[in-house]
Amino acid sequence: MATKNTCSNCWKEPTLCVCAMIPQIKTRTRLLVLQHPQEARNQWGTARLLTLSVPGSVHRVGLSWPSLAKVMGSPVQASRWGVLFLGTLKQYKPVPEAPGLYPLNGKKLPKLEGLVLLDGNWKQSKTLWWRNPWLLRLHRLVLNSQAPSLYTPLRRQPRKACLSTIEAAAECFSFLGESEQTSAALKQLFASFIDLANHRRQGALDSHPSGEMVPAAPELLSNTDHGNNSRSA
Ligand SMILES: [Zn+2]
Repeated sequence: MATKNTCSNCWKEPTLCVCAMIPQIKTRTRLLVLQHPQEARNQWGTARLLTLSVPGSVHRVGLSWPSLAKVMGSPVQASRWGVLFLGTLKQYKPVPEAPGLYPLNGKKLPKLEGLVLLDGNWKQSKTLWWRNPWLLRLHRLVLNSQAPSLYTPLRRQPRKACLSTIEAAAECFSFLGESEQTSAALKQLFASFIDLANHRRQGALDSHPSGEMVPAAPELLSNTDHGNNSRSA
């Protein structure tokens, strides 16, 4: 969320501002990111980078909304939308080995009009899930991504192979048939952000070699749990 100390556009502190690097990517799939308020204050979060890169995408910070149409501000067919499911691939039987985006009902991935991502750590995302029962009307999707996250060691991952929100979106877009450039541009932006963050972190370590003053901020311990065999949203 923007504060007086952050960029009003990307919500990052000045040293992490990525506005100059944000691509403009046209996608056929509409995108909605519902972000837990606590995650919106997290400097390492990527939801804002994602939604700024995809014009027309909708980014909402809060806990609950009355319906998909209300949050999108236009009529939508919920049955043609998917939500990245808060669960693990173990709930999907048989467990798909190939990387892909799979509907939890075991059917073939339908042609989707839009995708919802829940942004927050596991607990926050679960809160968003339960407070928005209309999500149950959407196709619940699980992502089996074999791409390793660039997040480590910036944010500690509770389980192996968790992806950031922007990485999860890049993977989903690719499995939803968006162009390769879409996925590549999102991953490139994320890599640039990580470079910036690592640079800042290194600067902090150099000024405080003992590491005592380096903010091992609580947000470093939280995680946006998008992932692989351990998906959340
Ligand atoms: Zn900015």
